[in-house]
Amino acid sequence: MTYFVGFEILLLSSLTVAKLIAFPRLTMSSKITLLERWSTNFSLEIINRVIAITVSMLLIQNLNFKNAPSENWFYFLFYIVVLDFTFYWRHRIYHRWFWFFHRTHHSDSGYDFSLSLRIHPIETLIQIIIFVSISLLMNINRWHIFLAVHIFSIQALLSHLDYAIPKTSFTRILRNIFVFPDSHKFHHDPENPDNHFGFLFSFWDTFFGTNQIKKID
Ligand SMILES: [Zn+2]
Ligand SMILES: [Zn+2]
Repeated sequence: MTYFVGFEILLLSSLTVAKLIAFPRLTMSSKITLLERWSTNFSLEIINRVIAITVSMLLIQNLNFKNAPSENWFYFLFYIVVLDFTFYWRHRIYHRWFWFFHRTHHSDSGYDFSLSLRIHPIETLIQIIIFVSISLLMNINRWHIFLAVHIFSIQALLSHLDYAIPKTSFTRILRNIFVFPDSHKFHHDPENPDNHFGFLFSFWDTFFGTNQIKKID
């Protein structure tokens, strides 16, 4: 679980460059606000990365993770579904009982990919504990854990893009399976509390009655 180098770093860098290219169109006050937001969000990312790397290294050295890659991709898919199910309920529990640290994520004055980095360190620790516990319980090999960490990291970035995916019949089907950026943005709207808690799969929201897809459509 080398939570250090990965595709999400590359994606994050590309998005940062894309945003910088858009800079000339911003007013001076918007640029200052953006830089303030980014310095907070990226500082939290550095703290969270240090925690994640330190804790992960300690766990890898002390816990008996399976080393050989498994050939069973259906089991890996099941593992992703189980993880995402726990993330859905973790998110609902945060809103219900642990707002005092989850509100860090909801306290940004703007909305862009950097919001995915605005995570309270307690959340990072809880995330690692969930990841490690489920991986051990399901006897997942370390390569699949590594892959899962990156799938969820990339989804965290993508779901915080301020971008509405064009509405076509195909994307409507996909929306029933995956969390889209605009549905997660809906979750961040203070006027629509307690909706769209999904992380990767959107069907948990549909199943548990927290999907407001019709309002988005
Ligand atoms: Zn939330
Ligand atoms: Zn969010």
